[in-house]
Amino acid sequence: MNDKMTCEERKAAYLKEAEQLFDNMEAWYEQNPEATLEAIEARLRPQRRRLMGESLKILVNGREEGKQEEILCPRCGTKMRYKGTIAKTVIGVEGDTTLNRAYYSCPKQCKGTAFFPSGQEVEAAR
Ligand SMILES: [Zn+2]
Repeated sequence: MNDKMTCEERKAAYLKEAEQLFDNMEAWYEQNPEATLEAIEARLRPQRRRLMGESLKILVNGREEGKQEEILCPRCGTKMRYKGTIAKTVIGVEGDTTLNRAYYSCPKQCKGTAFFPSGQEVEAAR
C-alpha cells in the first residue's frame, strides 16, 4: 500500500484493523469464558503488536513515501534520480511494520542509494 490517503481514510483503515482485533478477542473470549485476565492479556499482546504495526503503516505509508524534490548524491554531489519505492520492514518497539519508502540512485552510478526520511543507505538495483 502506498496510495496517499486522506485523514478520514487513514482513520477508517485504522478503525477497521482495531475492529478486527476486537472481534477476534470477542470470539476467543466466547470460547474461553473462564480465561483469567493474565490469559486474556497473553492472547491480546501479539495482536496489539500487530495492530501497532498496522497503525504505523497506515499513518506513514498512507501519507507519504519520503519523496523529496532534490537529493544530491552523498558521494559525488550529482542530483539523484527517483527510482520508485522499496518496501522496508521496520522492527519497532511496539510493533513491526513494512513501509514503502522512496529511494534514489545516482546517475553516475555511485554505490548506494538512500531511504528517506531516515537517510539510511542501501544497495539497490539501478
Ligand atoms: Zn554519485
